[in-house]
Amino acid sequence: MGVPRGGRIVVVGGGPAAAAAAVALREIGHDGGLVIVGGEPRPPYSRPPLSKAFLSGGVEAGDLALGVADAELRTGVRAIRVDLDERRVHLADGERLPYDGLVLATGTRARRPRDPSVEVVSTIADAERVSARMARARSALVVGSGFLAYELASATHARGIETTLVIRPGALAARWGMLADVLTDRVRTAGIRLVESPGGAFGDGTAITADGRRWEADLVLAAIGAEPDVIAPEYAATGYLTDDRCRLRRTVVAAGDAATVRSPGGARRDRTWTNALAQGAAAARSLLDDDAPPYAPVPYAWTEACGTEVKIAGAPPLGVAPAVIDGDLSEGRALLQWPGGAAAVGYRIPVARLKTLAAAPAPATLEG
Ligand SMILES: Cc1cc2nc3c(=O)[nH]c(=O)nc-3n(C[C@H](O)[C@H](O)[C@H](O)COP(=O)(O)OP(=O)(O)OC[C@H]3O[C@@H](n4cnc5c(N)ncnc54)[C@H](O)[C@@H]3O)c2cc1C
Repeated sequence: MGVPRGGRIVVVGGGPAAAAAAVALREIGHDGGLVIVGGEPRPPYSRPPLSKAFLSGGVEAGDLALGVADAELRTGVRAIRVDLDERRVHLADGERLPYDGLVLATGTRARRPRDPSVEVVSTIADAERVSARMARARSALVVGSGFLAYELASATHARGIETTLVIRPGALAARWGMLADVLTDRVRTAGIRLVESPGGAFGDGTAITADGRRWEADLVLAAIGAEPDVIAPEYAATGYLTDDRCRLRRTVVAAGDAATVRSPGGARRDRTWTNALAQGAAAARSLLDDDAPPYAPVPYAWTEACGTEVKIAGAPPLGVAPAVIDGDLSEGRALLQWPGGAAAVGYRIPVARLKTLAAAPAPATLEG
């Protein structure tokens, strides 16, 4: 039995996974109580533009709002604990919310350096503060080795700020194979200084790289990862570890960046926008319907560096040299394919077609 008709569903989290779950619950026919508890002071919004068009001046906070369906929205209050046996969510203001069904969509908490002068971009409030500091900065240091670091460096560069990006050698390639080289070439060619350092330190206006060199700037930005932001302590280390239908229990589901899905192919955590939306909807179905299908999406992610958008569907190209299906990488426009995946670099293609290409048989050569 799913959640009883007319029962009360509580959604904890104020991001896309929470919003998508609420919309799907109503679409599937949940006509009982529906409460969304979001820790930020504003309704759910879209995060990806924060490090891109928002910082470079193309969009404003009001453009980022997400629809949340017909739900009671409690913003600016965090859930601090859930009692899974008693079926109650405890809020920071002392209120307890009983539930018949629970969606946990609490996302991740960005790692924030101890030095408060080092900025992190995770929320609209962060992006607004950083944007104001960018208006006064002439130089910026960006520390980090994921897509987000490349995006932040691209944004400061686009605002005319002399930018240095400090990365760990090989870190991006370990996750994204040759696509890391594509991004690195792109930012270097655009005029961002790239410094490789296997370790080091950074703080107020400086970074010291492993070779002892000291780099100084008006603004230091860090993109050094994030941890699952969970309210059930037993999942603190792993994030919410669900079955293949996003369930923790019959009455509790989890979705988005805070969730890891166990399936016959292994545990899968996908911290992307598209996954948060799809998994929020899938988790909602699993809550209401005992016969919900397993959650098995084709992964999809995108990023952009200095004006070039890179879209990736399927598995990343690790240990393979992708085939160029169309275009030319040296000209910054190419469609790539490898067994189990495909990518579009500066190349316009609908996401659905890219996913189809990712699933199609591909010619590829082993690297090395
Ligand atoms: C700057 C930036 C750029 C990004 N760019 C891309 C991109 O280009 N492509 C891509 O695929 N992905 C990108 N991502 C990742 C993408 O935004 C996330 O995968 C997605 O937002 C995850 O959605 P979510 O709903 O799981 O969590 P989140 O979006 O993290 O939302 C979780 C929400 O829940 C709230 N919350 C947490 N704990 C509690 C609690 N206890 N009580 C109440 N509320 C709580 C949080 O305050 C937050 O508002 C980017 C992320 C950032 C930060």
